[in-house]
Amino acid sequence: MRMRILVVEDEPKIAGFLDRGLTGEGHRVDVVTDLAAARLAVAVEAYDLLLVDRMLPDGDGLAVVRELRRQGARTPAICLTARDRIEERVEGLYGGADDYLVKPFEFEELLARIAAVTRRTPLADRIEIADLSIDIAAHRAFRAGREIPLTAQEFALLRYFAEHRGHVLSRTRILDAVWGTTHDPRTNVVDVYVSYLRAKIDKGFDTPLIHTVRGAGYVLEAQAR
Ligand code: CA
Repeated sequence: MRMRILVVEDEPKIAGFLDRGLTGEGHRVDVVTDLAAARLAVAVEAYDLLLVDRMLPDGDGLAVVRELRRQGARTPAICLTARDRIEERVEGLYGGADDYLVKPFEFEELLARIAAVTRRTPLADRIEIADLSIDIAAHRAFRAGREIPLTAQEFALLRYFAEHRGHVLSRTRILDAVWGTTHDPRTNVVDVYVSYLRAKIDKGFDTPLIHTVRGAGYVLEAQAR
């Protein structure tokens, strides 16, 4: 799956190496060089993975992971550290990171760690949004206590929305993540499936959960838009 990755790294050589390598693997990469920019980036964008350096000009990059965890986000995070002393590794794991890499590291090793943390992390086992409840493992969804029968593709779309709740997702991004990159970008499959989902999830309820954001895409959230 193509991922949206945030690299938080102030050393230009390492940041450039990660950006080129991960872009080459088909991912979309944003690079920021300090903690303040990282906080802003995660507030605006729903990333699938964070790669975070610990020694940034304005503090420890793990702070941004800790803050996300406190808000309940389980976005996989790998800590990049030049400090290879064991106590700092342990602190890194307790700080909410899923894994760490000691610099310098081989790109192949990074890819292996990324595969491990993203495989291990369904972003949650169960997601609740207002009276919508999604059981990720069982592939079942309920609204107001009643099960909603969904096809595999509808469930994949609902899960993607739910894992990025509150974030406006463009059609292109949804297409990449749920259907893969081989799809014709001019297709209207996203709009078609969103209408199927709406008919099942929102029809007959006073508070719709799937909202259209004109010119931008769609968002799943409990508040009205
Ligand atoms: Ca650094």
